[in-house]
Amino acid sequence: MSTTRYPPDSDLRSLVRFCADKGLIWLDENRMLLMHTAALSALRKELIESVGIDQARRILTRMGYASGARDAELAKKVRSGRSEQDTFFTGPQLHMLEGSVIVTPVKIEMDLASGDFNGEFLWDNSYEAEVHVREYGQTTDPVCWMQIGYASGYTSAFMGRFILFKEVECAATGRSQCRIVGKPVEEWPDAHELTPYYEADSILNRMLELRGQVDALRASIESSRQPQNLIGSSQGFRRAYSLIDKAAATQVTVLLLGETGVGKERFARALHDMSRRSANPFVAVNCAALPGELIESELFGVEKGAFTGAHASRMGKFERAEGGTLFLDEVGELPLSAQAKLLRVLQEGEIERLGDERVRKINVRLVAATNVDLQAAVKSGRFRSDLFYRLNVYPVTIPPLRERVTDIAPMVEAMLHRFSALHDKHVAGITDKAMRALKSYAWPGNIRELENIIERGIILTPQNDWIEVEHLFAEPHDHDDVQHIVDATGSLTDAEVVLGKLCSRVIEAGVGLDALEEALIQHAVRESGGNLSGAARLLRITRPQLNYRLKKQSGGQ
Ligand SMILES: [Zn+2]
Repeated sequence: MSTTRYPPDSDLRSLVRFCADKGLIWLDENRMLLMHTAALSALRKELIESVGIDQARRILTRMGYASGARDAELAKKVRSGRSEQDTFFTGPQLHMLEGSVIVTPVKIEMDLASGDFNGEFLWDNSYEAEVHVREYGQTTDPVCWMQIGYASGYTSAFMGRFILFKEVECAATGRSQCRIVGKPVEEWPDAHELTPYYEADSILNRMLELRGQVDALRASIESSRQPQNLIGSSQGFRRAYSLIDKAAATQVTVLLLGETGVGKERFARALHDMSRRSANPFVAVNCAALPGELIESELFGVEKGAFTGAHASRMGKFERAEGGTLFLDEVGELPLSAQAKLLRVLQEGEIERLGDERVRKINVRLVAATNVDLQAAVKSGRFRSDLFYRLNVYPVTIPPLRERVTDIAPMVEAMLHRFSALHDKHVAGITDKAMRALKSYAWPGNIRELENIIERGIILTPQNDWIEVEHLFAEPHDHDDVQHIVDATGSLTDAEVVLGKLCSRVIEAGVGLDALEEALIQHAVRESGGNLSGAARLLRITRPQLNYRLKKQSGGQ
């Protein structure tokens, strides 16, 4: 069997030509468009909402099909005389060059003469999965409709018969990548379910049917609406949410587990809001924030004269939460004596204020939370095992933000809203590159850290401007992955090749490093009409880095 390695794509890259002065981009003789994925995302949303999800899928599949068929013509022209497989690989390689997706061949068996075809590919970085999840959250079905249309269109035109590709796994469903399989349409047992997406159709004929579908879609969106302060659709989030949802109807004591900053208090509040106790108080106490000698009087209250300084009787948090919910954050930090009292409250459903003989019945649901390993604390004697078993009846683990990457975009959206109002600042949004940086960061401080960074971004971004990477991360974070640049003739060229030529010229001319840097910076400032942020962008450095270099230059004179 032959290998599944791509031939070099320099022949394809040389077909791309940017002619900005004529308003044209060419792929060989095909006019192309450099288009915002945001625009395609808006079109997709508009389609789904106006004609329903099936029609939207059909239209986008056919659009991808048309584009794939065009590229198949190009393949035969550009790689004529090459092996069948190398010629075929033009399609996946162009799909990558055009910015849709990374295509990795898993298996490919083909024979042009007999028309046999059997192929399997992996997709990474699918733009379609990305925009779909951004708009609708994680889904249950594959959504790379235009891309699957492209694969079918390309291969069908290439093979001269209908080769149907099916997306058997999709990144939009929470997988790490998409997987596609293609074979002749006759060989798919469920072909009748897929071929309608490739057929022309009259929208008018379907109006009534669609009306019903749109209504159903709307109803499903309404029913999945979550409490305001909880946002997410990732698997980990949904698992935690459904546990909370089930607990809400009962009186069970809930233990929330998870790293610091994952939003345990939000979950506790949501549990309260969804329960029958929602009309009564929700009281939150952070056990780590109070000194050990105060915690007992805070929780259980104090009777006048109980100790020096207890001048008046005071209710504790348990009494304040009567009929409602008491949230004990960082419960692992409770001193042992307070642990003993808490255990009695849970067992008897009654409290005694400090210095009081009277026993008071209370009706409070306890939600405890911790970011430490309570079992380990039990082993080392810092936490009572009987209390641990009382609290651990219904544990719910809230996943860290790095395991909820698909939730970042909708969370950021909500935070932008909130902080813009708070700081009386309007921003246009967040750039694709900045969003990518947010998604690839590890978030040790979880949602709290994300909030801090977004708030900082809103403060640093000029009014009505876009939030860029440099507004979010003080340290340069995301490295530029630009590998091909447009050279003077309008061809895409390896940046390294350009740099190599440039360096030899500079050295031959005897310019020197300092003079080169100064000239380059002055050139960029002129090019951007004196706008320093613009100059920094041209030089691919941050504004503070540019300031530093400018200062260094003027100081050296
Ligand atoms: Zn996909």
